[in-house]
Amino acid sequence: MRLIRELTKKDIKNIKLVCFDCDGVTVPEGTYIRESQGELIVRTATLNDRIAEKLQRLKKHFFLVFSSGRSLLYVTRMYEKILWDNVALQAEIGLFTLYQGQVFQLGEFDSHFLEKSTRIKQAIRSLSQTNSNILGFEPKQFLVTVHCQEEDSAITDLVRKYDPEQEYYCLWSGEAYDIGPKVFNKGAGLKFLVNKMGLSMANVLAVGNDPNDREMVEGAGIGITTDPESVIKGADFVTEKKFEQGGEEVIDRLLEIIH
Ligand SMILES: [Mg+2]
Repeated sequence: MRLIRELTKKDIKNIKLVCFDCDGVTVPEGTYIRESQGELIVRTATLNDRIAEKLQRLKKHFFLVFSSGRSLLYVTRMYEKILWDNVALQAEIGLFTLYQGQVFQLGEFDSHFLEKSTRIKQAIRSLSQTNSNILGFEPKQFLVTVHCQEEDSAITDLVRKYDPEQEYYCLWSGEAYDIGPKVFNKGAGLKFLVNKMGLSMANVLAVGNDPNDREMVEGAGIGITTDPESVIKGADFVTEKKFEQGGEEVIDRLLEIIH
């Protein structure tokens, strides 16, 4: 893995699209979720003005994609400052893409997946009545995201119980478990968009940090991780933690070398 400062103009000569993860990469990590008796409180960060201004400059040179585990409504709110030209948004770990005023879905969430996800969610909901570690579910269309104070093997055990075929991932993000079918991931979502645009993954530079970014970063022409300790072992470059959001370092380097 090379350091981001070693990225050259020659390395990016085929890059047309730059895809960023959201939490911890372009916006501060963390969603505050509390759910009780039919009431739901959600608080989340948005893009800061400094990064927004840099992204405005970057999108004059590259098409930009922001890929998140969040719901599409939330991702739209988070990136409001830099919409809409030359930008696409991806939500719920690659499942939904908002591109040129249309929402596309990566694949059918058929009755098998709908029923399995519902069974898992109901089991976690009934567990939450006796387990105070569970804080609540983040509102999403298909992805099951359950916020917890800390990692909890009771959740992973439940997913294993209701998914004996092991079709689902259950990824801990530091604040929540994301639970959904493995066939829908950020890498597959990005490939879907890239094909739609008439490009290939060789034209993509992707930046991530969490386990859910692995397919996206490893599948891109240039893959960058902002966390050297992360599970993304196949990344080509790593940032040096100059900023709280590692994505900003990538933006700075790209702006530096395109001029
Ligand atoms: Mg992240």
